[in-house]
Amino acid sequence: MTRTVYLNGDYLPETEAKVSIFDRGFLMADGVYEVTSVLGGKLVDFAGHVKRLQRSLDELEIRNPLTEAEWLEVHRQLVARNGIDEGMVYLQVTRGNPGDRDFAFPPEDTPPTVVLFTQAKAGLADNPAAKTGWRVISVPDIRWGRRDIKTVQLLYPSMGKMMAKKAGVDDAWFTEDGFVTEGTSNNAYIVKGNRIITRALSNDILHGITRAAVLRFAREAQMEVEERSFTIDEAKQADEAFITSASAFVMPVVQVDGAALGTGKPGHVATRLREIYLEEMRKAAV
Ligand code: PMP
Repeated sequence: MTRTVYLNGDYLPETEAKVSIFDRGFLMADGVYEVTSVLGGKLVDFAGHVKRLQRSLDELEIRNPLTEAEWLEVHRQLVARNGIDEGMVYLQVTRGNPGDRDFAFPPEDTPPTVVLFTQAKAGLADNPAAKTGWRVISVPDIRWGRRDIKTVQLLYPSMGKMMAKKAGVDDAWFTEDGFVTEGTSNNAYIVKGNRIITRALSNDILHGITRAAVLRFAREAQMEVEERSFTIDEAKQADEAFITSASAFVMPVVQVDGAALGTGKPGHVATRLREIYLEEMRKAAV
């Protein structure tokens, strides 16, 4: 099936959407992205994603080429044109095509490149992995120092995912100075009793949109939330663990570096938070 994608103002068949070899995204990973889930044909936490997009663009001094209403319209058009019921909308904005390669940023009037496409993922909400949970390994976090900006420099996260695959597990948790930062493409949590522990926000991790919603729901459900760093050893002693991301929602983690957590099955906190998240987000989807 040929998807309809969006490129710089046009809706095109995916085979006809072309970007210059001089694009800063291609040559220098000079761009940012967002991924918004679609449930029941509607966008999950769209407001959160466009707000973070603005922040990422501001931090890199890239002009936001569309208004919030325009972003929403493009997302909705792509969902409708591609008949997406469950899946994702990927969006990327780069510093554009200066017509040559140069380390200096191009003139400010260089138009950013805007690309959006959909990915159909039947069974996103009803993911069987949520019933068995993920196994993770730890790997050193050697990414750059501004992980709070959602850039397209995803080489090391991609390598981390491959290290996990080679180890026969589902994902990798990055560690720095002895503490877990986050997963390759998700935020990481452990649970001790009724207390959820996750690293505090800083430049060291991406400020997950799902993280913000899940912590809000956890507090509303009278769970305790402690925003602080934790080690792999502490994770191994935890009752349960989980990760959050826009496409995995809340995913239980049942094993860390070969050590089974609690019963070795998805814990009740992660399972309950996944239910609450999906229920509330379906209600609020636009
Ligand atoms: N951390 C990293 C490194 C990520 O790539 C992602 C997902 N893009 C997340 C956390 C989770 O963020 P969100 O909940 O906004 O998808």
